[in-house]
Amino acid sequence: MTEARRAVAIARILDREWASSAAPIKLLPRRDPFTVLVGAVLSTRTQDAVTAAAVRRLMASAPSSARLSRMGLTRLRRLIYPVGFYRTKARQLHLLARQVAHLRYVPNTLEGLLELPGVGRKVANVVLAEAFGKPAVAVDTHVHRISNRLGLVQTTRSEQTEAVLIRLIPKRLRGRWNRLIVSLGQTYCRPVRPRCRECPVGSLCLKVGVDLREYQSCQSSARTTR
Ligand code: SF4
Repeated sequence: MTEARRAVAIARILDREWASSAAPIKLLPRRDPFTVLVGAVLSTRTQDAVTAAAVRRLMASAPSSARLSRMGLTRLRRLIYPVGFYRTKARQLHLLARQVAHLRYVPNTLEGLLELPGVGRKVANVVLAEAFGKPAVAVDTHVHRISNRLGLVQTTRSEQTEAVLIRLIPKRLRGRWNRLIVSLGQTYCRPVRPRCRECPVGSLCLKVGVDLREYQSCQSSARTTR
């Protein structure tokens, strides 16, 4: 099977799993561009459940970029605490809200999003995929690590991973790749001791870099206890 076919098969399986998945990424906002942008900025180095709760508190107090731009920094910090780097992110959100309020819209192009203060490629691609339904592949630590483990890419940097995935994944599936792979990472493909034995895409995965002795000993102990 080619890598492109394997990527499609993996996406199809994970798509079916998504409805019943308990992965915390399902709590993050989708659709409204400004809310998605805020969630994507807050999510860096923060658990998704913590991010989702912070977004809810923030949007309840300031449901638009104009309202958020007028909020004092102390209150903003208090509302987003305990997200990682909440002081820096509060300043960043303030600048971001001012710029979006000035524009009166969230840009729907990569170039436009990258011009916003503090917005990098990953955040921009999350907004394009989740808020605008565009075929963008957002590569975060989960997507980079797991795409390598699956053997779909052999890369060291996230930009390389994004470029290869764009070649492999058909347009119609690209926008969902981030959420599907992050969900896999939160439930089965953990950084340490991935649950390969129970993984729904185990038969399609090359398990690159996974300690196969540990994986095999799990399999044989499972066989003897059955
Ligand atoms: S089989 Fe193992 S390494 Fe591969 S995706 Fe599943 S959990 Fe990760």
